[in-house]
Amino acid sequence: MANSQSSSSIVHPEDAVSDLLTVYKIVEIFHSVQGEGVHAGIPHVFIRFGKCNLQCEWCDTDFETFEEMTAEEILSQVSQYPSKRLILTGGEPMLNDLWPLQRLFKSRGYSLACESNGTIEIPEGLLDWICISPKDQMYPQVKIRQRYGDELKCVYVGQDLSMYDDLKQGFTHHFLQPCYMENESVEWNGKNFALTETVVKENPSWRLSLQTHKWMGVD
Ligand code: SF4
Repeated sequence: MANSQSSSSIVHPEDAVSDLLTVYKIVEIFHSVQGEGVHAGIPHVFIRFGKCNLQCEWCDTDFETFEEMTAEEILSQVSQYPSKRLILTGGEPMLNDLWPLQRLFKSRGYSLACESNGTIEIPEGLLDWICISPKDQMYPQVKIRQRYGDELKCVYVGQDLSMYDDLKQGFTHHFLQPCYMENESVEWNGKNFALTETVVKENPSWRLSLQTHKWMGVD
């Protein structure tokens, strides 16, 4: 990915060279408005990592197409945008050692959030905001290891919500999100939306999460 800003202007003397040289698999870096969850409407820079340890049928990310970028290159690209809020997403971002990136961005005043499937425990103090979207409704054999955080966001596919009774206790905000499939019809997706809305009305400890960025046709 191209760097329009010279590296020398973004490197600080206190940066560890080993951090700057750490290589990550990056699908894309883009500036957009968060479309879902608690921070919907707030501009963020999204860093999408390659690779995932799951294969959900509704997944809309080609996480096998990525570029290897150093943390310095990532820093340079992110620095082009005015937002100091990062969302680390994927693929599955927690497959990576994120400490080098964390040190570089925290020392520059960024806040770091992640969107993870929860199968990998997140080190204490790594991130400012943890959003877990478990997929155990599809993969009952997969253990959710990250059991606390800020947002729990579950794609609703008709599962019994009591499966989250224990997990919910570790999270501040609980969202149900309609299953959205890009290759399905408007009617198919509309039915899922209506069903999830009904379920939320019957289970008011959950909030409806809408992927408003998809309606807007943006990433
Ligand atoms: S966990 Fe997320 S990134 Fe991985 S396959 Fe499922 S939807 Fe896609």
